[in-house]
Amino acid sequence: MIILPESWEDVVVRLLRMSETRLPDDVSWALEAAAAWEGGDIARSQLGAILDNSSKAEFVSRPMCQDTGLPVFFVKGRIPVDIEDSIAAGVRKATKDIPLRPNAVDPLSRENSGDNVGSGVLVHYRPMDVPYTEITVLPKGAGSENMSRLAMLTPSDGEDIIKDFVVRTVLQSGGRPCPPTIVGVGIGGTADACMALAKEALLMPLDSRNPDERLRKMEEDLFIKLNSSGLGPMGLGGDTTVLGVRIKMASCHTASMPVAVNLNCWAARRATARMHIDGSVRYTQGAFE
Ligand code: SF4
Repeated sequence: MIILPESWEDVVVRLLRMSETRLPDDVSWALEAAAAWEGGDIARSQLGAILDNSSKAEFVSRPMCQDTGLPVFFVKGRIPVDIEDSIAAGVRKATKDIPLRPNAVDPLSRENSGDNVGSGVLVHYRPMDVPYTEITVLPKGAGSENMSRLAMLTPSDGEDIIKDFVVRTVLQSGGRPCPPTIVGVGIGGTADACMALAKEALLMPLDSRNPDERLRKMEEDLFIKLNSSGLGPMGLGGDTTVLGVRIKMASCHTASMPVAVNLNCWAARRATARMHIDGSVRYTQGAFE
């Protein structure tokens, strides 16, 4: 979709509306495929309810879940100096217009700012020498975000121990992250960079191939293992515990082995806008490249 010039504030409102009211195609297809292969009646009815809920949300342009999440942004390319103010203004407007549930609170007083911004928006930056700016929003519900885990393994721990940690994290989460989930895994970096990798892994569409053959094999192994666990949709039993596993990796210290897991619930909301230097904007819920 190409839209003529808009302000960054309008772009952010549009991104939030897209992501909150419509599932990305790859996620819808994965849910439909799961509903077709599920063996159990309860699991099939849960998946049917999720698909029915999603299509109704899209039809009436209302959020697909009552927890509209805390919006996490990724900005890459040319970084405008006032982008953070524009994002905050867009989030405030979207909170009123869509509307979104106000979720941002002071962590100690628990006072709600009422605007989903609070002390500031959450933004990850990647400056690049390209003729555009790209913004992605990933609204994260607490049910899935609260199940995030980081393990500082030992350098000699190999693939099997990494996979055990991921499987244990998903199974110990039970039904709390509203499965079927998408499992984002970060391997390497430092503790903070590893958590960011796990979250960025959730942006990889389910129908894209991991460019690293070793990670692709790990994603497939984990997908089979997790879907053989019997946890199932909403943790009520079944063949579909996860819709996909996505892994990102970075170099780490020779004496470190960080591994992070960040889960996304079935309401795997995301949308991206790319604004070119002529001001035209393209939108996708997948990936541009
Ligand atoms: S985990 Fe996801 S689907 Fe479940 S309540 Fe939170 S946002 Fe909604």
